[in-house]
Amino acid sequence: MEKSRFPQEGAAREEVLAQLEAYQQVDGDWKAGKTWSLVYYAGEEVTRLAEEAYLKYFHTNALNPFVFRSLKRLETETLSMAADLFHGGEGVVGSLTSGGSESILMAVKTYRDEARAAKPQIKEPEVIVPVSVHAAFEKAAHYFGVKLVHAPLAADYRVDIDAVKRLITPNTILLVGSAPQYPHGVIDPIAALSELAVQHGLRLHVDACLGGFTLPFIKELGGEVPDFDFALPGVSSLSADLHKYAFAAKGVSAVLYRDAALREFQYFAYGDWPGGLFISPSATGTRPGGAIASAWAALKFLGRKGYLEITRSVRETTRTLLEGIRRIPELHILGAPPAGIFAFGSQTLNVHALADALEHKGWVVDQQVNPACLHFMVTPAHAGVAETFLRDLRTAVAEVKAHPEQFATGSAALYGMRAAVPEPGVVNQFIKSAYSRFMTEGGTFGFEGLPE
Ligand SMILES: *Cc1c(COP(=O)(O)O)cnc(C)c1O
Repeated sequence: MEKSRFPQEGAAREEVLAQLEAYQQVDGDWKAGKTWSLVYYAGEEVTRLAEEAYLKYFHTNALNPFVFRSLKRLETETLSMAADLFHGGEGVVGSLTSGGSESILMAVKTYRDEARAAKPQIKEPEVIVPVSVHAAFEKAAHYFGVKLVHAPLAADYRVDIDAVKRLITPNTILLVGSAPQYPHGVIDPIAALSELAVQHGLRLHVDACLGGFTLPFIKELGGEVPDFDFALPGVSSLSADLHKYAFAAKGVSAVLYRDAALREFQYFAYGDWPGGLFISPSATGTRPGGAIASAWAALKFLGRKGYLEITRSVRETTRTLLEGIRRIPELHILGAPPAGIFAFGSQTLNVHALADALEHKGWVVDQQVNPACLHFMVTPAHAGVAETFLRDLRTAVAEVKAHPEQFATGSAALYGMRAAVPEPGVVNQFIKSAYSRFMTEGGTFGFEGLPE
């Protein structure tokens, strides 16, 4: 890849913008519903509104709420609206962060610091997570020096509550459940986790990054959604991403705590800095006001009614997809996903080969492991493409079945190599090197040279 030189002279505005558009031609076509993750598009009306709100606050910085008092107001109001949706009482407070990962990082840091203060006898704090928990928890554990203890899943892909019970030790500080979890879209038994937390005097974080702004509406439409929020006495914090099913601009998530005392463990202060009394609520310094304004605007603009309408469409599309997939004998849905997030696997076909066959037809699907399956998140953008997708899926299944050798070299080979290397450390190092090569040199992302 040729290295760009620092431009000597500026280019014309039209030229700069035209170049951006030209560059974008290689990207996934999310607006046409060809991608099944990453972008949550609910149509032009709410998108324009969120964009306009962002632009009004383009230059603002929530790092200093004393200067941008209106941003403090937008943040507090957004958090209160979220707390209300999640049955938080008067005491529930929180922070807006840059995304689900930062919300999770902050929650883990909060509980580590709380345990340092309240349970100083604990030298190696442990957090019990389902193996299906979002990888941001692995990252948080790595960054903050806490130990993650992984609980296996039951046959329905929800965490095995008896296993969680057995894994509790005197070093446990926190339990985690997801509503829903990302890989298979099922909701962990949060009520049972809440009971355990209360019984054992432990904290419980619910990762509702994905489900926060869709589960309450699914429930209202008659879907089977068990309690997962502050209505349960053991839930001490909850993360919910506004840049997912709330349809705000990228870069905004909420982390909520049952009380303000807990939130203080999240804050960082440094009074001796020559730059002034330093206080920062979360991991980032500068906090883009635009993202916060877009979140506030989306909630205000759509309201409960607007989200119900969007959720109704997502549910219909999801039903069409699930029914269609269930009619394909080679495929099975994993568990009983209640929202627009699901995965399917196969007993007879290599699903990684199937992913490549779908990719040849213009679809971008996400591949998962342990067990091998393909992952889908349904948004309003998919309403018009569900039938086309099912038709292509049936064709792809027939193709892979008839000519598996044609699909043996792509993803099937990549994931085969990964499975052949038992040490996670080796695989992780290769993922890093392959990613680094891809970012600097381009080409494909592969495990070439991975020792077997
Ligand atoms: C997306 C997601 C996260 C992480 O959020 P980011 O905004 O991508 O950082 C965490 N948990 C779940 C369940 C998610 O779906």
